[in-house]
Amino acid sequence: MTTTGLMMALAVMGMAHGATSDDDGKVRFLATYKELVETNTTLSAGDCTLAATRMAARLKAAGYPDADVRIFVPEGHPKEGGLIAVLPGSDPKAKAILMLAHVDVVEAKREDWTRDPFTLIEENGYFYGRGTSDMKAQAAIWVDNLVRFREEGFRPRRAIKLALTCGEETSGALNGAGWLAEHARAEIDAALAITEGVDGDLDAQGHRVALEVLAAEKMSQNFVFEVTNKGGHSSRPVPDNAIYHLVRAVDKVSHYEFPVQLDDANRGYFSGMARIVGGQNGAAMTAVVSNPEDAAAVAILDKDQNWHAMLRTTCVATMLTAGHATNALPQRARANINCRIFPGVSREEVLAQLVKVADDPAVTVSVPEVRGPVAAPAPLTATIMAPVVTVAHQMWPGVPVVPALEPGASDAQFLNPAGIPTYGITGLFTDPDGGNIHGLNERIRIQSVHEGRTFLYRLVKIYANQ
Ligand SMILES: [Zn+2]
Repeated sequence: MTTTGLMMALAVMGMAHGATSDDDGKVRFLATYKELVETNTTLSAGDCTLAATRMAARLKAAGYPDADVRIFVPEGHPKEGGLIAVLPGSDPKAKAILMLAHVDVVEAKREDWTRDPFTLIEENGYFYGRGTSDMKAQAAIWVDNLVRFREEGFRPRRAIKLALTCGEETSGALNGAGWLAEHARAEIDAALAITEGVDGDLDAQGHRVALEVLAAEKMSQNFVFEVTNKGGHSSRPVPDNAIYHLVRAVDKVSHYEFPVQLDDANRGYFSGMARIVGGQNGAAMTAVVSNPEDAAAVAILDKDQNWHAMLRTTCVATMLTAGHATNALPQRARANINCRIFPGVSREEVLAQLVKVADDPAVTVSVPEVRGPVAAPAPLTATIMAPVVTVAHQMWPGVPVVPALEPGASDAQFLNPAGIPTYGITGLFTDPDGGNIHGLNERIRIQSVHEGRTFLYRLVKIYANQ
């Protein structure tokens, strides 16, 4: 029997007999995680509705009535559906807790990956596969939480809600969290929502450095650089070439840095981390907090891609299309520039700066699509932070909890404006490279997933009884 076959067999047993005390449902959890990772949920070829339906089946098998588990499918988007489920609370006046996860994943090409991106592979202490980290581990933990709570007969004071959504990873795709905020606001209403955003940090040796809690996040915005040209025969080249204009402008973007900015979130992060990190990096953090124009200190922090991104707006070329024939001068060349805009900075400011950076009238810079309103960050009150600190100290004594500014953007951008304060709390510890989320050979440590599962199980219980 293969390992996979054994796991499947154990999973079936786990489902039939419930969790045994020695594995606290670990095997069943792994089967949920595996099923989610192995259900392709890319926008191009995947099916979020199928993933949601599979998770719904697990909840129903655990005893959730049909009325408390609903698959939603936005009109005209049959494969971009999701799931809403609820474990009712005992106090009808208490607002719910919402566990939120997107189940869609970034595209992954088999030929580029070392292993099949849509098979959950365990290797050298890691789970490999698209979505293993972003964010099917947390999505599977949420489903597993509901299953465990039901099985234990846990009757929380607040209702515990679950929303699994689609469309978080693709700009311009229908966003499930946004759709719910608009079409099912009452069903997802909650005192607070928890989702991805930031993780725990491991150093290169795998030691826990700090557990982060998302306090604010940047806004993702695409810009398009485009050059059009009358073209011609490639046997008669001229200097005025659409591709040359474009690549020169894109190259200028690669050399440009937006100015360093500080707000409560990254100031809190660098102040807190300065003591933990120590040495030259710690000194640089302290120096930048007191003077963001300290170029030498900024240069030290910029060597870390995460710190670099937390300090400012960033823009990067992500896609290129150009030309129409191998033997013709290009008539059109286009680049997508993806910017992550610092909280409080407008799209218009960034657009104006990109025009200045490109510095070529032949290059037009435009905004292809605008996502929802800019969300003010949810407040980091003691009600939110104290339970995180409590569980973190139970599990990882001495590991500090620090607020963070998230360079990426999560579904908080849709729920915060809808009046549901949303926080990024995962309890998942990731490697310094972030586990290659969105990139090749995405991975997460097996131990991190199991610990994150315990952390989020305990944390949600505390919030639900607050
Ligand atoms: Zn994600």
